[in-house]
Amino acid sequence: MMIYKSFKFELILNNEQIRSLRKNFGCVRFISNNALAWHNKCRESGSKLRFDSRDAMRELESWKKEFPWLNEYQPQIIKEAIRDLETAFKHYYAKRLAYPRFKAKGVKESFRVSEGFKVEQQNNRCYLPEIGWIRYINSREIKGTIRSITISYKCKKFFISILALLEAKPVNHPEREVGIDLGIAQFATLSNGVIYTPLSVYKKYRIYAQKLEKQLKNKQLYSNNREKLKDKLAKLHSKMANCRKDFLHKLSDKLTKRYRQIYVEDLKINRMATSGNLLSKKELVDNKKELNKSIMDQAWYEFRRQLEYKSNWRGGKSIKVSSVNTSKECPICHFISSENRPYRGLFKCVRCHYSNNADVVGALNVLARGRIFAKS
Ligand SMILES: [Zn+2]
Repeated sequence: MMIYKSFKFELILNNEQIRSLRKNFGCVRFISNNALAWHNKCRESGSKLRFDSRDAMRELESWKKEFPWLNEYQPQIIKEAIRDLETAFKHYYAKRLAYPRFKAKGVKESFRVSEGFKVEQQNNRCYLPEIGWIRYINSREIKGTIRSITISYKCKKFFISILALLEAKPVNHPEREVGIDLGIAQFATLSNGVIYTPLSVYKKYRIYAQKLEKQLKNKQLYSNNREKLKDKLAKLHSKMANCRKDFLHKLSDKLTKRYRQIYVEDLKINRMATSGNLLSKKELVDNKKELNKSIMDQAWYEFRRQLEYKSNWRGGKSIKVSSVNTSKECPICHFISSENRPYRGLFKCVRCHYSNNADVVGALNVLARGRIFAKS
């Protein structure tokens, strides 16, 4: 199977290069905002209800007359920006994402080049048209045929993401199937009893983050010290995000290499974040906000997404099954009752007296449901 994979590296730039990259970010931001404003107008007047990149490209000529400086930029960068907006609209029409918003300066800045580039891995550099050669920190080998290059900026650092098309080879999975229970106390529990404890980066750095936030409040607006603190805080958040990513990727890698069929519960994260039905009343009253944060901390959604695409790469399959009553059902006699769980960690069936770790029981139920699902 042919797959797209991106390889991301940090860039080493001089001031002139930084300026030219920033200019391109600005161009992408302008095009994207202008196209969105144009589409909003069309929508209000009722002339066009769906965004189409071809219409926007036709409109481009009049924008170029109005803003002659647009001619200085590469057409491919403008084209890719319009395509990205179209993708955002596609997600909106499919009800996956909210309505596209206007881009702000300094937030998620990037541009893409799809032709005329060169990558020299042995020299740790790549060539972008009109920008020239730029060096990157080469931390891994790029495989496959390179399709496009995206330059992005985050937390005072510039990155290059190289998208390549390559052949994914199915692996020999040592084990056939597994059920996974996701939770707050334990990040993931497998049906064979293996438990993965959560990373909870936020918990680890909470005190430091709170200290910085408090200091920030007392600083004068636009002062140097305030800006410095803001940088520090941004750095901390980016560090936490990287820790999470690392944890999730390593775990999903391990599981998709080991098990061919992975059954995972389809939790409604939004509902859980507000109701907190996994905790006792006292704990719930304690701090609902904390619970919300800890759930976001887990990044279950991202985990399931990774399981899905990595399973596909490796010739396996990841299947979502209903999570209703997985924590209350007895895996032996299938009796469902909330009395089966006297307290958080323990499962004890009221009817047949089967008892086990509650998370393992959840995983066993997920496995049983997954098997039925896989057969049908
Ligand atoms: Zn039972």
